[in-house]
Amino acid sequence: MEIQKELAERSRPRPDEKSLGFGRYFTDHMLVARYDEGKGWHEAKIVPYGPLQIDPAAAVLHYGQELFEGLKAYRGRDGKVRLFRPEANCKRMADGAARLCMPPLPPEQMLELIVELVKVDKDWVPHSHGTALYIRPTLIATEPFLGVRPSKSYLFFVILSPVGAYYAEGFDPVKIWVEPKYSRAAKGGLGAVKAGANYAASLLASELARAKGYAQVLWLDANEHRWLEEVGTMNLFLRIGDEVVTPPLGGSILPGITRDSVIRLLRHWGVPVDERPISIDEVREAHARKTLKEVFGTGTAAVISPVKELCYKDETLFIGDEMGELSRRLYETITGIQYGEIPDPFGWTRIVD
Ligand SMILES: *Cc1c(COP(=O)(O)O)cnc(C)c1O
Repeated sequence: MEIQKELAERSRPRPDEKSLGFGRYFTDHMLVARYDEGKGWHEAKIVPYGPLQIDPAAAVLHYGQELFEGLKAYRGRDGKVRLFRPEANCKRMADGAARLCMPPLPPEQMLELIVELVKVDKDWVPHSHGTALYIRPTLIATEPFLGVRPSKSYLFFVILSPVGAYYAEGFDPVKIWVEPKYSRAAKGGLGAVKAGANYAASLLASELARAKGYAQVLWLDANEHRWLEEVGTMNLFLRIGDEVVTPPLGGSILPGITRDSVIRLLRHWGVPVDERPISIDEVREAHARKTLKEVFGTGTAAVISPVKELCYKDETLFIGDEMGELSRRLYETITGIQYGEIPDPFGWTRIVD
């Protein structure tokens, strides 16, 4: 697919690198590509960032036929800009598109579009350690038709947002609410794909937990409300004794790229890691026996997010006030690779030049 370029006449105001936050500022350009039945994917364009024109009858606005991705471009101390395992994001988007009856962009083509866009706005990649340029590819159904069936036209767009260091103020393990009633996703549903609908389903429980003083929700399975699934919008890991455990991908859990990287690193280090079902009762027992050493979430935003305590019904399971030893080693290794500060033995990074 050829990419046309229509460059912005003026650059948008640059935010202060010290107060970027997350997802509040956007770069000068965005990428758009269209799909129409019979024509396939066509008209890939890099254009000035701005509002989209969309028909109010567009299927995405009524039935939520939408999918997104999230990855980052990191500027190393060597000045080079790196993407971390971007082909995995492109593959995941193609898999998710199939689940939502949307036409996937071929992953190699999607990666090429992302790389071209990042090149155009490369000087927006912030410089301070821990900051990055967040990349948000999105696929939406645009056919103006209110019948319930897959749309016949789609828009793929990519926007870029410079984001701040997640741990600018140091690692602060957070309090987590184990949700006994609401579910994020059920087996057979959309939990394994990055559909906006999953986020809509999660908002109420997250708000209620926040009002009680908890940073995030730990989701249990939708069927028995017994088996651990994810924490907020992150995958979940527990260190019990000398073993690391994480729930298996069973259809309701998002296959995180950070999750996969953590599993691969642990195996590389010879740390036993098991993907198996973990019940909340097992966690309570491990806590009582004092073998529950570390609990953390994994995801592109924070890489590793340590848990301080879990609240389940009336019980509080305290884990630790400080980031655990293994959590810290994982965090330092993954970010070290992302910023090109240590060798990349797995070939995870791709330099954008
Ligand atoms: C994106 C996401 C993750 C983390 O995936 P990464 O590829 O590691 O960023 C985990 N859980 C949910 C629900 C997500 O949407």
